[in-house]
Amino acid sequence: MTPDLSREGLAQLLALEDFSPIYEEADRVRKEAVGDTVHIRALLEFSNHCRRKCAYCGLRAPRKDLPRYRMTPEEILASVRSAFEVGYRTIVLQSGEDPWYTPKLLGEIVQEIKRTTDMAVTLGCGELSREDYALLRQAGADRYLLKHETADEDLYQSLHPDGTLRERVNCLRTLKTLGYETGSGFMVGLPGQTPDVLAKDLLLLKDIPCDMAGIGPFLPHPETPLRDAAPGSAELTRRCVALARLLLPRANLPATTALTVRGDNGRVFSGGANVVMRKITPNAYKRQYEIYPAALPDTDIPAQRKLLEDQIRALGRVPL
Ligand code: SF4
Repeated sequence: MTPDLSREGLAQLLALEDFSPIYEEADRVRKEAVGDTVHIRALLEFSNHCRRKCAYCGLRAPRKDLPRYRMTPEEILASVRSAFEVGYRTIVLQSGEDPWYTPKLLGEIVQEIKRTTDMAVTLGCGELSREDYALLRQAGADRYLLKHETADEDLYQSLHPDGTLRERVNCLRTLKTLGYETGSGFMVGLPGQTPDVLAKDLLLLKDIPCDMAGIGPFLPHPETPLRDAAPGSAELTRRCVALARLLLPRANLPATTALTVRGDNGRVFSGGANVVMRKITPNAYKRQYEIYPAALPDTDIPAQRKLLEDQIRALGRVPL
């Protein structure tokens, strides 16, 4: 059967009683389009300062109880070097929206990484102007992650008092025109979200069109306005990843950290994902970067890389 990937069709597929034929099809498409490789990315969270007030996020500006940190450029470069030495070939530099790190300073860090390693550099530092994105691209940044979080305007507005869905989508289109490999993504299980909203989320990924998409379950953080909301379903999240694979056969689809937090690593790989990210944030900072609650192990860059490679091989896939 050819799945119906229209808006109505996607909403119906998400509600199927038996989703296993779609998982099988997603796995087949993944194998045909991007092979058995699982790309392991190093994720460095270099600043937990943020000027925004996203309702679901543990880093939101109104949180006064959270100790804030900024890694120095030297600390960032030392962590990146450690990751490079054990085999990582992509570094994801992520932060809240922190204007202290000017695009010029970030660009210098990117240039230094490109000068001293052959790593691809992915940035995830929020919404910036076209000029700033262009400057970072010129400095050597290869990819940019900016999740749209929800493609429903009303839901977006209720969660993001500092911006609009239109602004976010404009940023994504700008990143594409500047030649970035562009990543978006969304949360599954947000309060008020319906299957039709998830169908819109999936179709927005295709419309951009995204080169990467991070799809993760909503996990309520106790220090946010959404503390009492129910967490998103891991199964529904996996279904969204599988449908994203059908819509975007060649995209890089991570088994997102929020899913691996829930221990579903292997199962999400079986439904179309081909990327996994491993935090390499130093222990001194790691637990202060909590967008959603997670019991994080201490960072041990070589040991965790090795463990992940073994786990990927055990699934019959090829770590890179
Ligand atoms: S989701 Fe991102 S932009 Fe929003 S408060 Fe959290 S770190 Fe800041």
